Amino acid sequence: MKELTEEIKRFRDERGWGGNHDARSLAISVSLEASELLEHFQWVTAEDAIKKDKQAIADEAADVFIYLLQFADVLGIDLIEAAQQKMKKNTLKYPLPEVD
Ligand SMILES: [Mg+2]
Repeated sequence: MKELTEEIKRFRDERGWGGNHDARSLAISVSLEASELLEHFQWVTAEDAIKKDKQAIADEAADVFIYLLQFADVLGIDLIEAAQQKMKKNTLKYPLPEVD
């Protein structure tokens, strides 16, 4: 993941796009790309959307991930560690029902 983040930053910097990639702009970009992902499912069933646009859906999911990696990098967040910590919180917040 670190290698991918570096590749993304290199791509960005080679094009001079780094100047406005602050946390706010990157958070907005995550949301916009998530909307582009969602657009594929508008007015159709999930099954039909996937059948018709699976590659385009994968591209939009990648856009979300690419911006999220940059967002995490700016804030110094280790996404794997953050997700593991959040799953621990989820486990405590939503315990399995007790079996009699
Ligand atoms: Mg996109």
